[in-house]
Amino acid sequence: MKKILITGAAGFLGSHLCDRFIKEDFHVIGMDNLITGDLRNIQHLFKLKNFEFYNHDVTKFVSVPGQLDYILHFASPASPIDYLKIPIQTLKVGALGTHNLLGLAKVKKARILIASTSEIYGDPLVHPQTEEYYGNVNTIGPRGVYDEAKRFMESITMAYNRFHGLETRIVRIFNTYGPRMRLNDGRVIPAFIGQALRGEDLTVFGDGSQTRSFCYVDDEIEGIYRLLLSDYDLPVNIGNPHEITIKDFAEEIVKLTGTDQKIIYKPLPKDDPMQRQPDITKAKEILGWEPKVSRAEGMKKTYEYFKGLPEEELYKKEH
Ligand code: NAD
Ligand code: UDP
Repeated sequence: MKKILITGAAGFLGSHLCDRFIKEDFHVIGMDNLITGDLRNIQHLFKLKNFEFYNHDVTKFVSVPGQLDYILHFASPASPIDYLKIPIQTLKVGALGTHNLLGLAKVKKARILIASTSEIYGDPLVHPQTEEYYGNVNTIGPRGVYDEAKRFMESITMAYNRFHGLETRIVRIFNTYGPRMRLNDGRVIPAFIGQALRGEDLTVFGDGSQTRSFCYVDDEIEGIYRLLLSDYDLPVNIGNPHEITIKDFAEEIVKLTGTDQKIIYKPLPKDDPMQRQPDITKAKEILGWEPKVSRAEGMKKTYEYFKGLPEEELYKKEH
């Protein structure tokens, strides 16, 4: 049985990855320090013989006993509100955490895939974003702690690949959504749905003309799975190219939730990228992958999930 270590296992993507690799008959070791994650995302796995969980901060030395075939490094705050609240930890998990996991991969002769992001393109001057684009990031801006940690993560990963001959994979994830996102993590989808469920106005930042392209979690996980098992070691964008302005998206959510909430406008956060859309030519050609779930279908499932949460979750204040 192949053994895989998944960091960030109690988070949104990490927990779905645990499910997927359990389904594929792997022995899964989940690791998380629960700083933005929630054990409830993986509690259904605790009864399984081929699942183990380590409560551990990956910025500290990481070790696991015995054989290890694969590592997925997904530990990191991912929401702008989270990483603005814990900027140093965000830099550390991208830098020191990645270094520790690369070291572990080297010792175990394991293949490692790291979770990079569309944020490495910053506020992009090339549209849609291809993997060849170097990006436009403000190193010293408030979002720099995340963007630069992820850029360093890519660099050190390629250095281990070239210098130590390590088998590495780099996925550049574009805005992904679905069940198990934290209702109060501040990202736009939980924010809008939470507001609609509480009967509050939807807060669009700026004039809402900035765009994003949202990918449903099942599609994202399939892309990551294929990339891990491929023999391609340069970065690959995995995301849904269907782009929408945030204003139009807010209107879609008002329709979806059947509420008559108003849309109100708040200041645009500093360095908020104005447009974002993945060019997925590489993923199509190399992995035979493209997204299958439409935004309408994915958002319906996501709304059902949030609607089913206990009411107190709706009013839990985090920020
Ligand atoms: P999330 O916040 O739900 O999950 C991140 C998990 O990492 C949490 O469970 C958290 O507790 C854990 N973690 C953070 N620091 C840690 C540390 N030092 N040691 C151990 N565990 C730690 O976020 P997510 O959306 O699931 O994102 C997962 C990964 O995917 C992140 O690396 C993120 O940068 C990347 N990513 C996500 C998206 C997206 O749209 N969801 C987009 C681009 C990149
Ligand atoms: N956004 C918004 N209202 C909110 C939360 C976010 O208008 O309540 C905007 C945000 O400014 C950004 C977009 O939605 O332009 C996506 O934000 P998110 O935090 O989800 O992700 P990211 O900016 O990292 O893509």
